[in-house]
Amino acid sequence: MKKIAFIGAGNMARAIVIGLVNSGVTPSDIIVANPSPEKRLALANEFGIMHTDDNIKATEFADIIVLSVKPHFISDVCQQLTKACDISQKLFISVAAGRTVAQIQQALACNAAVVRVMPNTPSQLGFGMSGLFASPEVNDEQKAASGKLMSAVGKIIWLETESKINDVIAVAGSAPAYFFLFMEAMETHAKSLGFTDEESRMLVQQTALGSAQMVAHNSESISTLRGNVTSKGGTTHAAIEQFKADGIELMVKNAMNAAIARAEEMA
Ligand code: NAP
Repeated sequence: MKKIAFIGAGNMARAIVIGLVNSGVTPSDIIVANPSPEKRLALANEFGIMHTDDNIKATEFADIIVLSVKPHFISDVCQQLTKACDISQKLFISVAAGRTVAQIQQALACNAAVVRVMPNTPSQLGFGMSGLFASPEVNDEQKAASGKLMSAVGKIIWLETESKINDVIAVAGSAPAYFFLFMEAMETHAKSLGFTDEESRMLVQQTALGSAQMVAHNSESISTLRGNVTSKGGTTHAAIEQFKADGIELMVKNAMNAAIARAEEMA
């Protein structure tokens, strides 16, 4: 693996650093830059990686620069990085939502190789799902390195067009919250049925976890798995029919399309 710099030492940088170190990347090949000391020192002390308050120094150290600041800082940070040597030879990986390759290249004042990534929050536990789009300037070696980097925090898919990033937001980026909402609704009703807070949480949490594990460990379609536990005339059937009567498919489709529309507005 080449040398890697993280610009921004927040949650996403931390998740990827943990994944990289756990997957065997040499800590001294990683540097993290952050103006305030707390987060970068915590990462450096915990994992033995390098740290600096100087984004330019970090950029000059590395072959791969991970832009892991909030989206509204991306332009300023990229403009600052134009002062670093040889930036046109480096690979930039941006995890920032709503910042396009063109905007990043414009701020960097060169046609640098840029990979845009849309990760999601379970990346923090190594269970992330990311969609990646490579600009035409990204070579095969850089593409493989970006794939390896994001695979350290979960699964990845490559996208043919940049606009598919918005679709990934709808299906995976924003989606942990959809599952939380569903779990929250179940937990609330479990409490109203008389279970304690602790029991309600455990009943919902373990059922969600077990269901996700069944999907992950079976080759059958999700639809078949559902059918297998839905005996005609049984209790599950009654619940599923009620979900359908209340329009769950349309509700999910409308919600995902709303996420796409918002992502397009924000670009
Ligand atoms: P975060 O925890 O707020 O981390 C951002 C970090 O950037 C902070 O440590 C901040 O330092 C630092 N920073 C601010 N200005 C800087 C500058 N000029 N130079 C260097 N570092 C600077 O945010 P996050 O959740 O990791 O998100 C980072 C990016 O990942 C965002 O663009 C977000 O869209 C994307 N993303 C995150 C997730 C996720 O699961 N967290 C999912 C999808 C996408 P201070 O705190 O000291 O100001």
